[in-house]
Amino acid sequence: MKQTKYIFVTGGVVSSLGKGIISSSIGLLLKACGYKVTIQKFDPYINIDPGTLNPYEHGECYVTEDGVETDLDLGHYERFTGIRTTVHNSVTTGKIYQAVIEKERRGDYLGKTIQVVPHITNEIKDRIRANALDGDFDFIITEIGGTIGDMESAPFLEAIRQLRWELGGHSLCIHLTYVPYLRAAGELKTKPTQHSVKELQGLGIQPDFLILRTEKHLDRALLHKVAAFCNVDTDSVIQSEDLPSIYEVPLNMHRQGLDRTILAKIGMADMAGHEQRLSQWEDFVRKEKDLQETVKVGLVGKYDLQDAYKSIRESLHIAGIHTGRKVEIQFVNSENLNISNVGETLRGMDGVVICPGFGSRGIEGKIEAVNYTRTHDIPTFGICLGMQMMVVEFARNVLGLKEAHSSEINPETPHNVIDMMEGQKALTHMGGTMRLGAYACSLADGSRVLEIYGKERIRERHRHRYEFNNAYLSRFEQAGMRCSGRNPENNLVEIVEIPGLKWFIGTQFHPEYSSTVLEPHPLFMDFIKNL
Ligand code: GLN
Repeated sequence: MKQTKYIFVTGGVVSSLGKGIISSSIGLLLKACGYKVTIQKFDPYINIDPGTLNPYEHGECYVTEDGVETDLDLGHYERFTGIRTTVHNSVTTGKIYQAVIEKERRGDYLGKTIQVVPHITNEIKDRIRANALDGDFDFIITEIGGTIGDMESAPFLEAIRQLRWELGGHSLCIHLTYVPYLRAAGELKTKPTQHSVKELQGLGIQPDFLILRTEKHLDRALLHKVAAFCNVDTDSVIQSEDLPSIYEVPLNMHRQGLDRTILAKIGMADMAGHEQRLSQWEDFVRKEKDLQETVKVGLVGKYDLQDAYKSIRESLHIAGIHTGRKVEIQFVNSENLNISNVGETLRGMDGVVICPGFGSRGIEGKIEAVNYTRTHDIPTFGICLGMQMMVVEFARNVLGLKEAHSSEINPETPHNVIDMMEGQKALTHMGGTMRLGAYACSLADGSRVLEIYGKERIRERHRHRYEFNNAYLSRFEQAGMRCSGRNPENNLVEIVEIPGLKWFIGTQFHPEYSSTVLEPHPLFMDFIKNL
């Protein structure tokens, strides 16, 4: 059995420094060194998972193949490294407490008083190790959400302190901080970093590496100063300057030798082929810098926030790079869309994505958008709720079922073309009760999607409660909307398309969750190619 090495990534000074991107970059680099790597995220909030969180709180909810609703950082992990994450890769304080309380109720603790230390910290340590047991990894990278000094993250840091002691040399701590530039003084300031490291040291954790986020280039003298003040080797103080693209971050880390220094410190060899394995990534970044043509994609949704549709944005962007196009995404708030302004809003778009979502806010705007793109033959990609609104629009305006709707939005509709699955109706709570994770789908002969995927059987990730109502299936097909992807076990409709149009495809599943930098999703690729 190999000795797994553990890398802990913490953050200090301020939040939103991009710990997820740094963790993903380290994962990518170590994978390129020839090692088996996984990355997990510990979120200090009390929600069991982000599934019930409003996207305005934490951005998009990402879904793993095994059906866990997770933080959007897991999307970065998968896109950067191509690894597939599971239930072990996403842990929240809520999950930890839930597990401990369940054990207490079962009597597992034999009458002991249950405390943060050792019961909560032991549960956290087990979750870090559990990952090791599951996959025989060379490296487990554990990213701790939040900022050093937050009350919420204290049990995680205590668990790391203990674990590092127990692991005796088989772990590293990488601390990410911020070096602000004070314009009035014309100076870069290291004091917040020094304080943050002191705070970490006060908790019994000495960082091995410091990654300094900065808007301006840091000179060697400053890096030396930080190293000296923080008990860190100079070659282990790395700077992470703002870059035009997040995909340049791993290369910037590599240039400063972060991967080599990590391996040297942990006593692992750099396996042959490292540079060669990174070369594909370098090609990608080169292409990204050299995009000549621009295409404009309207993103019709209701959350006017970059992170709310993170995976869709990245999937579009990545597919654009692979096809030589800069994808300019224009957010279109569906709440403001109506019959009189939809034309002027969408006319200039080369393509339109109708976004996923829940609830009725902005729903009629989405239907108006579909109506406009369908009748003006603008390439349209509907995802989950977006696909459902393609169905509703078609029912209303082609089948003439004026009151057609999804029963999520109008439970009284006489034409519930989108309806809740039988098994879901009796549910009493919201968390984790959707159709979640990867399911099989078979693609119909002669369909556009079969041509795009190039294989008859696919597996895609889901996150929804409502489905196409098969009672209406033949009417749709006769009128020209083809149900070209079906679940082979229960016949649920997973894909609709209108063959006569340039590109009009809706998927009940979320292809954006499985699109990665080096393996972009075929649907996104084909959509962008056809704009
Ligand atoms: N609200 C819809 C459903 O539950 C769509 C969900 C989504 O877009 N992810 O089926």
